[in-house]
Amino acid sequence: MTIPANPVVLVTGASRGIGAGIARLLAARGARIAAHYHIDRAAIDAVLASLPGDGHQAFAADLGDADAAARLWYAATAAYGVIDVLVNNAGIYLFHPPLASAEGEWRAAWRQTLATNLMGPATLSLLAAQAMAARPGPVDPNFGRGRIVNVSSRGAFRGEPDAPAYAASKAGLNALGQSLARALAPQQIYVYTLAPGWVETDMAAEHLAGPEGDGIRAQHPLGRLSRIDELAGAAAYCALDAPPAMTGGIIDVNGASYLRS
Ligand code: NAD
Repeated sequence: MTIPANPVVLVTGASRGIGAGIARLLAARGARIAAHYHIDRAAIDAVLASLPGDGHQAFAADLGDADAAARLWYAATAAYGVIDVLVNNAGIYLFHPPLASAEGEWRAAWRQTLATNLMGPATLSLLAAQAMAARPGPVDPNFGRGRIVNVSSRGAFRGEPDAPAYAASKAGLNALGQSLARALAPQQIYVYTLAPGWVETDMAAEHLAGPEGDGIRAQHPLGRLSRIDELAGAAAYCALDAPPAMTGGIIDVNGASYLRS
């Protein structure tokens, strides 16, 4: 397979956690990173400074605002010309347990979660798909015209009793990836989705520190949570190496903490 030389990869939520890990690993493999962040300019500057190679730039956007998500795509495209890979990594987890949430809180959590975790990626994916499909050939059919990698969650299958909107948003992201994989395969655009369990990030740290911490650790037969570098490795594989035959796949990256068949 011929991977584009110094492919351009737009990574959302690259300022910390899994997104920063994905950006670092892809940059080490020669990618130029269009590093999206929300509001933490200092954090994205630190990530940019840590990336090996050249051609990395930061782009701000609130992905909970679909117009801003579209502007992000156009800004990155204006800067680089073409985007080879879109990584939909940014996401939020809001606590809204069904029996302890007022209706207003419940609706606000659903609105914000679906906007950020599903509508933002759906908007970026549409623009990516259309731009990739319009790229002229010849293309290496094994790499394709472009790729989309989604970071979903185990919660889509297992349920999230304290954050039902999160589980629903990730189930929606899974279905978005499957639908786009089928729609875009004839154009040689490939779509892969990762479904992590708990990963050692800031998002996980607050849960691990709380009363549920021991229960979370007990779910993991590896005796530890997944590491950011493991998620980054799986994402880089999908972004650069995975065969077209895997398009549409939803890949568990959860340390056997929750398995499905
Ligand atoms: P994190 O909270 O450390 O990072 C999330 C990123 O999303 C941040 O960069 C943040 O700026 C960005 N973001 C949040 N709201 C945004 C908005 N409105 N607009 C733009 N960007 C926004 O989380 P993480 O653990 O690195 O998670 C990354 C992805 O992995 C998420 O989609 C998450 O759902 C998924 N995931 C994480 C875990 C885990 O245990 N950490 C488990 C399963 C899935």
